Amino acid sequence: MDIKTILVIGAGTMGRQIATSCALGGFTTILQDISGSALDEARADLEGWTARRVAKGKLQAEIADAALARLSQSTELGACAAQADLVIEAAVERLDIKRSIFAELGKNAPAHAILVTNSSTLASSHVAEASGRASQVCNMHFFNPALVMKCVEIVRNEQTSDETIQSVMAVARALGKEPVLVNKEIPGFIANRMMGAIQREALNLASLGVASIKDIDTTARTALGHPMGPFELMDLVGLDVTDFIAQATYSETGEDVDQPHPMVTQKVAEGKLGRKSGEGFYEYRG
Ligand code: NAD
Repeated sequence: MDIKTILVIGAGTMGRQIATSCALGGFTTILQDISGSALDEARADLEGWTARRVAKGKLQAEIADAALARLSQSTELGACAAQADLVIEAAVERLDIKRSIFAELGKNAPAHAILVTNSSTLASSHVAEASGRASQVCNMHFFNPALVMKCVEIVRNEQTSDETIQSVMAVARALGKEPVLVNKEIPGFIANRMMGAIQREALNLASLGVASIKDIDTTARTALGHPMGPFELMDLVGLDVTDFIAQATYSETGEDVDQPHPMVTQKVAEGKLGRKSGEGFYEYRG
């Protein structure tokens, strides 16, 4: 399918970077959010990001200017949806909100438009029916920071058509990404599932007193070649986010192994959320 115009819903951490990636990929891009201030903040953020890339010689000024000119913003969902060939939903992680967005898209987007969700924890089958076009719905899961990370997990639901998958794969490649196909809806998809297993084992080793948090992180870096240790990564992502993902996974699978780990839950209860609060498994004073 010939995709020319992409609508990205949600101008938060993910949406603003996905939209910039789409504009840099040559697509006419609309960034939509219910919050005008989120859109203004996103625009300032993206202008700053592209200016820094240009200053470092990593992006040509003309390419950056052309991309920013292709990127518009709006608070009006219905009007934006009517122009889109592909909609990437990256709004807040709430099923009721995502369902109402997909219902709105079902009414307003052209019949050919493909609708995807960037959700990390909600499989597209939860929103597909609301759209009234389940065969044109799947997950298109970018990683943070979306402008940098190459992986995009494309997760089909039972009704997703092959044509939809092919089109979404082609768009991901046009954005310079390396898409991977996940054939079954499974909590955590591929990457977060593998990361979850590593984090779980790291938490178990620490709580058994086998090694210190610092030495477990050092081992991940020096023996396994990971860019950062599992505790450093949890602090970076946010322990509240880590705990939320574990809760969401556990509520879906009901398997003991997926239960939120008490070490993380305890830190969250103490307000120690990682880097963003100044303390998590490590301290980040000053
Ligand atoms: P965020 O909280 O930074 O941003 C969410 C944005 O959605 C906010 O700007 C908010 O104003 C907007 N919003 C809320 N309701 C809306 C509505 N009805 N219509 C339009 N916009 C609305 O969230 P985020 O971290 O960018 O996450 C967004 C999605 O991306 C989630 O589904 C999450 O699972 C997924 N995701 C997040 C990460 C991550 O590391 N943060 C990584 C991969 C995927």
